[in-house]
Amino acid sequence: MTAAPFACDPARSRGRRHPEPAPPTRTEYQRDRDRIVHSTAFRRLVYKTQVFLNHEGDLFRTRLTHSLEVAQLGRSIARSLGLCEDLVEAIALAHDLGHTPFGHAGQDTLNACMDGHGGFEHNLQSLRVVDSLEERYPQFDGLNLSFETREGILKHCSASNARKLEAAEPGGVGARFLAGTQPGLEAQLCNLADEIAYNAHDIDDGVRSGLITVEQLAQTELFEMHREETLREHPALQGRRVLYESIRRMLSAQVFDVIDATRAALAQAQPASVDAVRASAPLVMFSPAMRQRSLALKQFLHRNLYRHPQVVDTTAQARRVVQELFAIYRDQPALMPPAHAARADLPRAVADYIAGMTDRFALREHARLTGTRLLAAD
Ligand code: MG
Repeated sequence: MTAAPFACDPARSRGRRHPEPAPPTRTEYQRDRDRIVHSTAFRRLVYKTQVFLNHEGDLFRTRLTHSLEVAQLGRSIARSLGLCEDLVEAIALAHDLGHTPFGHAGQDTLNACMDGHGGFEHNLQSLRVVDSLEERYPQFDGLNLSFETREGILKHCSASNARKLEAAEPGGVGARFLAGTQPGLEAQLCNLADEIAYNAHDIDDGVRSGLITVEQLAQTELFEMHREETLREHPALQGRRVLYESIRRMLSAQVFDVIDATRAALAQAQPASVDAVRASAPLVMFSPAMRQRSLALKQFLHRNLYRHPQVVDTTAQARRVVQELFAIYRDQPALMPPAHAARADLPRAVADYIAGMTDRFALREHARLTGTRLLAAD
């Protein structure tokens, strides 16, 4: 399918912060994707928590498998809409690079530790990873990605952080948060693909863990309508296959809904360029009915899974690990690797070091420095 005028075109990218010759065999966004896949931060995603801690089971999603699912969903929707698949893939694979160990508990705790020092926000951290923290190239810090990939990675940003970004890079990726404009369609799509992916896989992981049941899930319209449909067509189906088939149908319904609703929005807005997309209201969207169903499912997962006593207990221990590590490194920077210890901006150096840790590295490091083993896997 030929790319549409509203799709990002790698040949017309707004470029990289450090200009480089065009790649001979790949597009600019393929090069971004490849740089992300080869980064250290990407390999760490395999040992970082999505909802369940990495050691709680081998079959739960990790940040890595989550990112792959977002890329897969994003690419298929992009293909149907005539958007740039390579850019969607690059953004999806990089979107969680800045996540701390222990999921949202880790991020919230690190944010509290950084109170008065600029805070901690995982989207901004993902950008820091690709802009400066990766050390792989002789000519520059970071991965020197294209503007459009960086634009997509910075999904949210507070006004104060946007002003800092704008001061360092006028008219750059922070500008839209001050102007109230949108990113390109590929970035908009990744946000929605992220939501579709985690709603579905958290149901699967939640049931696998035993913390939620298929019977409880019947309270949510989105799951129940597809479970009923599955059982109507396959009355003898039992156990996991009912769950998987219901989730599969639910995913397809959301994908088709996004494609239809977005096509309609594009037909009405008729954006003739990526800049017209940026100036328009959001264009990648669910229909109002699906938005409502997705929201209800999200609320169900919050109530029954993310706030389940067992998850909350794990979360409390994870908070302690991050808090104690932060205090130890802040008071004794020499306990960090020399490159972090030598930095002038000590609190940020500590936050960068902790944010980069995998769950198991953070637990081991915490046990080594405090003598207390929390959340032990064995
Ligand atoms: Mg995500």
